[in-house]
Amino acid sequence: MDTASLSGKELAAAINAETKARATALTEGAGAPRLALVVPNDDPASAWYVNSLRKAAERLGIACDTVDLGPDATVTGIRAELAARSADHATDAIMLQTPLPVGVSLDDVSSAIVATKDVDGVSPLSLGLLAAGLDGFVPATSEAVVELLEHHGIPLAGRHVAVVGRSNIVGKPLAQLLLAKDATVTVCHSRTADLAAVTATADVVVAAAGRIGLICGKHVRAGAVVIDVGTNEAPDGTITGDVDAASVRGKAAALSPVPGGVGPVTTALLMRHVVTAAETGRSN
Ligand code: NDP
Repeated sequence: MDTASLSGKELAAAINAETKARATALTEGAGAPRLALVVPNDDPASAWYVNSLRKAAERLGIACDTVDLGPDATVTGIRAELAARSADHATDAIMLQTPLPVGVSLDDVSSAIVATKDVDGVSPLSLGLLAAGLDGFVPATSEAVVELLEHHGIPLAGRHVAVVGRSNIVGKPLAQLLLAKDATVTVCHSRTADLAAVTATADVVVAAAGRIGLICGKHVRAGAVVIDVGTNEAPDGTITGDVDAASVRGKAAALSPVPGGVGPVTTALLMRHVVTAAETGRSN
């Protein structure tokens, strides 16, 4: 079987074109939408990601402040910065970068981001709104998976989707979004007894575990669709996914590439959220 490649580049470009037009309209009104990237680390992968977000924002006409708190930032210091940006009228949107300093968890600090500026949907309020099926910002990576599937015409209603990973920023919110699309969802994790037995029954497998090559041919039934969310650094420094593409290709009907699949759509959706936050925040 030929395995189609579910590229995210075309979808990202379409989202970006609309975001740029909305950002231009805001700029001509009360000024460019403004995103604060709060960075409590000195991690090279995070620095690379922050740089790519800054470039994406610049291309779209979104102003971007990087707030460097360093790896020694405390819970109190991070919360104070997030609360200050939440109250700051000049800041439309806030993103907190990970990894967080040793001893600090996302749960310790994310509630300090006001939900109306929480463009990556990490705060407990945003996650609760999603679970309740109410409006709010949803984590961009999870949303990107659903948008990528829909863009490529893959139906979700009534289909069995296996999500591998249950983090608060990818696996769990994705399960909620898929349920809202009427999929039947199984969420797998490191304690799932026989991962392959579960995933091989699914119509769609989403790999979001952060483990290179975890999902291989035996995890996928013939004709299934596979979405690779993983962005892992391989020993040679390249970015690689959670799917062993060599063994899945030829068996799956379609597979999203890494890079070039979920990643560009995630960035595009984050920027769309920034513009939405500015539009709604300024009209209130
Ligand atoms: P976390 O480490 O927070 O969560 C990983 C999840 O995978 C956990 O639920 C864990 O289970 C599960 N898991 C780990 N090992 C196994 C295994 N052997 N079998 C089954 N389940 C397993 O990671 P994130 O959710 O933050 O990220 C997941 C991946 O997605 C990473 O590669 C990350 O880089 C990538 N990512 C990509 C983005 C993009 O834009 N493309 C954005 C965000 C993340 P348990 O709960 O039991 O520990």
